[in-house]
Amino acid sequence: MELKTSFLAGLLFLQSCQNAREAADVLYLNAVIWTGDSAQPSASVLAVKGDKILYVGGDANLHKGPRTRVVDLEGRFVVPGFIDNHTHFLSGGFQLASVDLRSAKTPQEFIQRLADFARNLPEGRWITGGDWDHETWGGELPKKEWIDSVTARNPVFVNRLDGHMALANSLAMRLAKVGKQTKEVAGGTIVRDAEGSPTGIFKDEAMGLIYPAIPEASPEALDEALVRAMDHALSLGVTQVHDVGSYGGFTDLETYRRNAGKLKVRIYSMVPVGAWARMAEYVAGNGRGDAMLRWGGLKGFVDGSLGSTTAWFYAPYDDEPNTSGLLVNDTLQLREWILKADSAKLHVAVHAIGDRANDWLLGVYSEAEALNGPRDRRFRIEHAQHLTRKAISQFAELGVIPSMQPYHAIDDGRWAEKRIGPERIKTTYAFRSLLDASAKLTFGSDWTVAPLSPLEGIYAAVTRQTLDGKKPRRMGTAREDFRRGSPPLLYRQ
Ligand SMILES: [Zn+2]
Repeated sequence: MELKTSFLAGLLFLQSCQNAREAADVLYLNAVIWTGDSAQPSASVLAVKGDKILYVGGDANLHKGPRTRVVDLEGRFVVPGFIDNHTHFLSGGFQLASVDLRSAKTPQEFIQRLADFARNLPEGRWITGGDWDHETWGGELPKKEWIDSVTARNPVFVNRLDGHMALANSLAMRLAKVGKQTKEVAGGTIVRDAEGSPTGIFKDEAMGLIYPAIPEASPEALDEALVRAMDHALSLGVTQVHDVGSYGGFTDLETYRRNAGKLKVRIYSMVPVGAWARMAEYVAGNGRGDAMLRWGGLKGFVDGSLGSTTAWFYAPYDDEPNTSGLLVNDTLQLREWILKADSAKLHVAVHAIGDRANDWLLGVYSEAEALNGPRDRRFRIEHAQHLTRKAISQFAELGVIPSMQPYHAIDDGRWAEKRIGPERIKTTYAFRSLLDASAKLTFGSDWTVAPLSPLEGIYAAVTRQTLDGKKPRRMGTAREDFRRGSPPLLYRQ
């Protein structure tokens, strides 16, 4: 042990001597660098050679060579690039060029945005994306009658920002051959009027009734969406994304591989967990990628979302007492996929929102470990939104990663309590409690469900103040404090 340590120290010494002789390609001076190292929290000089950081410290001459380019940052703040743990990256790229319904504050505005967007489109072109939120105008779901007259020439299938329900117009339903006679779909809901006709709203698996009518995006359109998404990410300081997918199958991964030489952002691309056998073969034939593009991860769903009242709870919703949510996947099948994927040494990340969905998934993960033996498997629960007290401690015990997206806390937080009541809200978005219980908490955005900006996410995690400024009630000015740069109050949850 003694020998090993001194050998390592010697090696490090040797390396720093070599580094000391090396000239940097670029030298950044007069920076305010956040190092993440409590022993040396800030620095002013950064030296870079190729794709490596040679040095972070205070000596401006150590790595200066005759051909070194010197950049004076004039006191600007420097942080490492952000990694976003959960994005729907390509649909984000499409959304950047699509109709913006997220900021529509009233049904009239929602209708007007679609009318304006449709006016400039060729006849027959589908309108998708949108990311609307009916909670911003009090919770009334949109229906096809709102938009039929302004979108008569274009089929419409625009989704809620959580992607768990979408609105079709009459033309889209006609093209998809969906009507009053259409039967219910397992794992989904067709919202119907008093006469039993679909209103245009399709939830979770029922959205699959409309999808087949939408023409597939061409490779060129996918490539363009990727460029838009990467540029947007870089503009916000995001240098790596974990992509949980937008298209199902291997479409996303194939798009990234087709653009392998042109990637400006590091990407970890996941495919649906149902495709685990194909991914196992893919890894056997192609490895797991390189520093810019990696694969081998699988994404699944247990339940839906809180906003669509499809997240799976033990007890019914307070505002919809006839339902406790629904399962997106048959649990027996999902369990089998997870166990098999894990035995093939693939990486599993599964969406779970409701307390019952999280408990169920933690149970399957511990079963997998018992069955397939210990290894560094890094099981993830995406969102981990509503937890039982027992679940909060289980994450660390089982080594499961809560992969959370804090912006949802200040967005859904506006109306979450109306859905689940005062008790369940106490263990909702329990970031601090998870950290105190030694869980390996990780953050991301869930773009396009939430904005891609990491600073908005950090703001949300720190202040927990909802977008309407109303919760927590004892906070009046956190958002302003944060913007002014004064330290916001901390709230535990
Ligand atoms: Zn997501």
